[in-house]
Amino acid sequence: MLSEETAAVVTSMLQSVIDHGTGAPARLRGFTLPAAGKTGTMDDYMDAWFEGYIPSLAAGVWVGFDQKKTIGPGMTGARAALPTWTDFMIGATRGRPVEDFGSPLGTSNRDICAETGMLATEACPNVTTEIFDEGSEPTEYCTAHPGRPLQTYRRAAPMPDEDGGKPDLRQLDRNDRARAKEKIHTW
Ligand SMILES: [Zn+2]
Repeated sequence: MLSEETAAVVTSMLQSVIDHGTGAPARLRGFTLPAAGKTGTMDDYMDAWFEGYIPSLAAGVWVGFDQKKTIGPGMTGARAALPTWTDFMIGATRGRPVEDFGSPLGTSNRDICAETGMLATEACPNVTTEIFDEGSEPTEYCTAHPGRPLQTYRRAAPMPDEDGGKPDLRQLDRNDRARAKEKIHTW
């Protein structure tokens, strides 16, 4: 069994896989709900997996032959299995309310540079919000993209001229949760 905190931290990492990583083709294909997942690719492309979940539904897709045989060059989990997973999830969740993953007490959110895993600065091109066990948050700001510390979670909303004028709604939602939690802790 995983602790609630560990599960939340791992889910947050796996959300980044879908939002920014090897699972990102699911977003391009039109699956927009908060989701977490991971690709799997075997040596010589003999098996391809995608395992992913939303709070109330988990699904895994495996592509391969019964025999130990390659399914084809370049057939990664993202190319071979992810499209099937994405289409299934779109169909299975159609018309259902949006569910978000909770962040339990004992964890905290930080804006992280997706390239270095360090605290994000305003110069980081690709920023993601990650959940950490309290006390295990990174403390050093990104050294690959030097700049002023990014502290989006302290402000109400991105200014219209920042972020290309298009606020990331999911980001805002997570920031609101982080703020609500900070209040709880302050009281
Ligand atoms: Zn950076």
